[in-house]
Amino acid sequence: MEKNIALIRGDGIGPEIVEQAVLILNRVAEIYGHSFRYTDVDMGGNAIDKWGEPLPQAQLQKCLDSDSVLLGAVGGPKWNDVPGPMRPEKGLLKLRAAMEVYSNNRPAKIWPQLAGASPLKPEIVEKGIDFMIVRELTGGIYFGSHETKQENGQAVATDILTYSEAEIRRIGRIGFETARKRRKKLCSVEKSNVLDSSRLWKKIMHELSEEYPDVTLTDMLVDNCAMQIVKDPSQFDVIVTENMFGDILSDEASMITGSIGTIPSSSLGSTTRGLYEPIHGSAPDIAGQDIANPIGTILAAAMLLRYSFDMAKEADAIEKAVSDTLDAGFRTADILPPHGAFQKVGCKQMGAEICARIQ
Ligand code: NAD
Repeated sequence: MEKNIALIRGDGIGPEIVEQAVLILNRVAEIYGHSFRYTDVDMGGNAIDKWGEPLPQAQLQKCLDSDSVLLGAVGGPKWNDVPGPMRPEKGLLKLRAAMEVYSNNRPAKIWPQLAGASPLKPEIVEKGIDFMIVRELTGGIYFGSHETKQENGQAVATDILTYSEAEIRRIGRIGFETARKRRKKLCSVEKSNVLDSSRLWKKIMHELSEEYPDVTLTDMLVDNCAMQIVKDPSQFDVIVTENMFGDILSDEASMITGSIGTIPSSSLGSTTRGLYEPIHGSAPDIAGQDIANPIGTILAAAMLLRYSFDMAKEADAIEKAVSDTLDAGFRTADILPPHGAFQKVGCKQMGAEICARIQ
């Protein structure tokens, strides 16, 4: 199969980790007889430096013309003081909106080899952590109007949170469909005791549940959900929630599984073209030192093959190679336990070890 992949290497550790994912994709292409063509796209701080804005139209168009997009990460202290609309993160928001990817899907799954890296007590981890957070991505407070004005001699800031029925319904469907492919349990998370948008959210989820009688729907307030994720994460299968709640809960969920460096995510809309990235940022504190963990980006590439290119066995091969590499004892610094028979490796060697194990 011939496919075009847009590569956004981005800032900080982005270029280092994307390089390892490309190595893996090329090996998969060689073994399974595919041809992946890559188009480099400037986005984030590097695009601000080169083009004066975080995602120029011509760069965005390359993503829209591709079969799917793989992103490292963007941002860093160098661009902290640029004005709001010009910030590196604005490039990402523009990309998500233009690609019409309204669903961010993040697995929270513990690798048995990394169980010791979880900050939770072993008796909680042993019950199992394997759930998916489906987060609405293009609506809610992040996309509402924002305003800071002077009133009675002081600054007053306002952010507007809006959700339409249609926006809730389409993300709700992804939640139910995802649950249907897993253990058939969907937890809808909102703040319906306070917010109108949450009351509408809850109403639509219950309407939808009539179309999915095989899926058990439960409701949970977001503050309770934040507690339950650390108290008993084994109770969750699929969580569906709005943009800001999902942003916060998915970071919490990633922490309990160990290293932030090992977790991928996908953003999808109503076509097969998706945006795939690790969940972490550009880690400027470790950039350029060959110590970043490339596993999150490599697993994001596996998700890309599985969900956008329908290449399940190729994705399985990557995931197995990661597992075999961890079994063989290779660890980057962020997942290296203080004791035990492990070999500490850098970003490049971790990529090479995984690549060598792809079958
Ligand atoms: P971060 O995720 O970049 O880093 C948090 C901590 O985790 C750091 O100590 C970092 O060294 C470590 N870390 C992250 N990824 C790692 C990896 N692959 N291997 C080993 N260690 C890793 O979060 P931050 O420091 O809050 O943000 C840094 C920059 O990234 C900011 O400019 C932020 O806006 C941006 N950011 C971008 C994205 C994105 O591009 N999708 C997401 C989040 C943050």
